[in-house]
Amino acid sequence: MKEPVTRIIAVSNRLPIHLVHGPDGLEIKPGEGGLVTALAPVFRNRGGVWIGWSGGSDDDDLAGLLEPASREAGYRLYPVPLSVDEVCDYYYGFSNEVIWPLFHDLQTRCNFKPRYWQQYLNVNRKFAEITTKHSAETDYIWVHDYHLMYMAKSLRELGVERNTGFFLHIPFPPADIFMKLPWRAHILRALLEYELVGFQTMRDRKNFIQCLRYISSDIRISGRGSVVTVIVGDKRVRVGAFPISIDYDAFARDAESKEVADLAWYLHEALPNRQVILGVDRLDYTKGIPERLEAFKDALSRFPELQGKTTLVQVVVPSREEVPEYQTLRAELYRLVGEINGQFTRSGWVPIHYLYRSLDRSELLAYYRLAEIALITPLKDGMNLVAKEYCACNLEENGVLILSEFAGVAAHLHRNAIMVNPYDVEGMSNAIREAFHMDRTERHNRMHKLREIVHHRDIFWWVNNFLEAAIAKDLRAFPALEEYMPDITIGI
Ligand code: UDP
Repeated sequence: MKEPVTRIIAVSNRLPIHLVHGPDGLEIKPGEGGLVTALAPVFRNRGGVWIGWSGGSDDDDLAGLLEPASREAGYRLYPVPLSVDEVCDYYYGFSNEVIWPLFHDLQTRCNFKPRYWQQYLNVNRKFAEITTKHSAETDYIWVHDYHLMYMAKSLRELGVERNTGFFLHIPFPPADIFMKLPWRAHILRALLEYELVGFQTMRDRKNFIQCLRYISSDIRISGRGSVVTVIVGDKRVRVGAFPISIDYDAFARDAESKEVADLAWYLHEALPNRQVILGVDRLDYTKGIPERLEAFKDALSRFPELQGKTTLVQVVVPSREEVPEYQTLRAELYRLVGEINGQFTRSGWVPIHYLYRSLDRSELLAYYRLAEIALITPLKDGMNLVAKEYCACNLEENGVLILSEFAGVAAHLHRNAIMVNPYDVEGMSNAIREAFHMDRTERHNRMHKLREIVHHRDIFWWVNNFLEAAIAKDLRAFPALEEYMPDITIGI
């Protein structure tokens, strides 16, 4: 019987920071992206620990930087230093050229190089060693995402006893796709070393259990509901669906602030007498951005009443720009935007406003608040937090959500969004027209229900759900401290 858990240790590929070279050398800024947005408010000031790669090189001197960053974040940050070769083969290679495309059903983009796999094992072991050094048996080790599927097995191989849980933020593919992975049995067996494995949706959980049947005919499932126990030979693991969410109250409150309201008014005044259609994505081929631009072009051609009356504001946040495929996508987007704007622009109206940069929070919330239509059409997505953030910030409840069937968030929002197949350009263009013509009452009814669903299942609900399944405790067991005082010095 293990000791009761007293502290949570989050382990993820990246620490929730990014390093920038300022005039006085390296500086630390808060990180971006779904995982940070989701976990930061939960971890703040509860005495926890976050372990991950800093995003820099292994000889960066971080000692003096992480101490104040830990104090500011409200949890202790411990870096995992990675060499250039490790970053190349474990991160860009195995994580981003194998697991990322495969798990998003895009197996033709995979590059199954054996050396990537070896480095994945080495780096997972490194994470396990550093986690061992900074944790005790009474800690709960909550491992995040596809970069670290092997970590519980590495801990086991090191002979270290810990309570471990794993959450996969991206989809888990169906068996006929997963089975193409040369190291499929190793990955499945490694996941069975966790005590709890969490997925975004029931579909992902079902796919995982289906894959387990390929490695063993001796599988039993006990329990019902969103968390079940799977017994595979002598292994017993709890497997659940835990759809990740957002800090709804914080988004709704900030969207109501004067700063955001003024900015929303100002931005919409610059686009008068028209409906704003909003897309917000990281630069990624899974997000379906070219298909969306083609759909908007198709809508402008087939439904000329939209010309001059709609503007697509497409925000693309730069990501993985060192990777040639992402550079190609970036060029493709510039080409498509240029082509569409070149064809349709007329005096006083430019159809697409293309923002290739990261927005600050007020600007992002202002766009969420002002947009009459959100066009969220990934080819496949673990969850898609942008969809939830849009609903939380749509205070006037007059926005229409057009949503891909293949985003995890569709499981909850499909009844009140307009659902589309992101590969079906004409279907998406029809959806744009339907949203454009939707009357105020229907918009309000749908958005009101969407907001209720997102509000009800917010980020705190998600964390509590996971922790209850993991350790039979919720966040109340880890109360916020009055003032966060780091109690240990950083060891790198
Ligand atoms: N986001 C951001 N800066 C921006 C635009 C978006 O930090 O300029 C955030 C957005 O608020 C959301 C996250 O990026 O929380 C994107 O999460 P999502 O789940 O939609 O996709 P991911 O990038 O994790 O695949």
